[in-house]
Amino acid sequence: MPHKVISIRPRTRTAGAAAPRYDGAPLADTRGRPLRDLRISVTDRCNFRCTYCMPREVFDADYKFLPHASILSFEEIARLAGVFVGLGVRKIRLTGGEPLLRKDLPALVKMLAPLGADLTLTTNGSTLVKHAAALKDAGLGRLTVSLDSLDEATFRAMNDADFPVEKVLDGIAAAADAGFAPIKVNMVVKRGVNDHQIVEAARHWRDSGHILRFIEFMDVGSTNGWRMDDVIPSAEVVRRIGEAFPLEPVEPNYTGEVAERWRYKDGAGEIGVISSVTQAFCASCNRLRLSTEGSLFTCLFAQQGHDLKALLRGGADDDALRDAIAAVWRAREDRYSEIRTAETAKGRKVEMSYIGG
Ligand code: SAM
Repeated sequence: MPHKVISIRPRTRTAGAAAPRYDGAPLADTRGRPLRDLRISVTDRCNFRCTYCMPREVFDADYKFLPHASILSFEEIARLAGVFVGLGVRKIRLTGGEPLLRKDLPALVKMLAPLGADLTLTTNGSTLVKHAAALKDAGLGRLTVSLDSLDEATFRAMNDADFPVEKVLDGIAAAADAGFAPIKVNMVVKRGVNDHQIVEAARHWRDSGHILRFIEFMDVGSTNGWRMDDVIPSAEVVRRIGEAFPLEPVEPNYTGEVAERWRYKDGAGEIGVISSVTQAFCASCNRLRLSTEGSLFTCLFAQQGHDLKALLRGGADDDALRDAIAAVWRAREDRYSEIRTAETAKGRKVEMSYIGG
């Protein structure tokens, strides 16, 4: 396992050292941040080998992915999700690895939809043609599709699986036909790799009704060889697009929204920029992450998780799970992106493909 997992003491009738009882008050961490957003990774496997996320040299034929027995079942995920919603979570994002590689994912969506949270999914889009309608029918609310370039050679080089642009575009079209609107399209920008495609991507998605979002290349995990020189600051993305298609800023939809919004002055829609490196948004970060094998991570850049699965499989009731999660959140201090330095960037952090962004 590439990172540490801390065990959570189960509550017993006599044990005093377990998590304190959750008192029902709104949850806030040590910096006053509420818990609102839960990301659930449903698999650590992916059919792409994006060079900045799952480089083939590391995630090769010998790489040991998680065995089935160690990953949370749909029933376990749904039970935990119910506890999280009881603690104030309002948005749940399913991610991975590639979440649509998890068998029968719509069945999980169907179990989560009645919880009433804003339910969304991030996918590479490669199998959306097959799954979009079933996901919609199961109650999925929104969809984000990653697509780093519209240029065939650039995209195939970045996904390193020889996967064609056209199939992802077909997937997005199928999702739109199934009723998802607007679809968010994520483009991670890496200098010298796909930044020549920024304006082209803007041109393509303008007027489509979908929202293109540019993500700064981040130092997640320890395998992607991150260097600050590879980051194109969002300000540069906005400047380059604005020169071609004038833009103006838009107010955030809600406090803590990750993407900064800009709209085309000619009314052709909007774009978003996610500046996790150049304008860290730790101060409003309300996200908790549940890994495929049931560890809780309080930061995308965390070096250790909290083992919820052991508690779950050890027979903890919902009250005990609530107490444990509340204690983890209340102790949360993380603000990695605000204090990022060359030194912190070197630490052994959880991989993006494991935790899901
Ligand atoms: N497989 C799905 C997908 O492709 O969207 C979900 C998981 S993927 C890890 C989630 C998102 O994280 C994708 O949009 C991906 O491009 C982004 N991502 C991965 N590594 C990143 C990095 N180092 N910096 C910024 N974004 C990254």
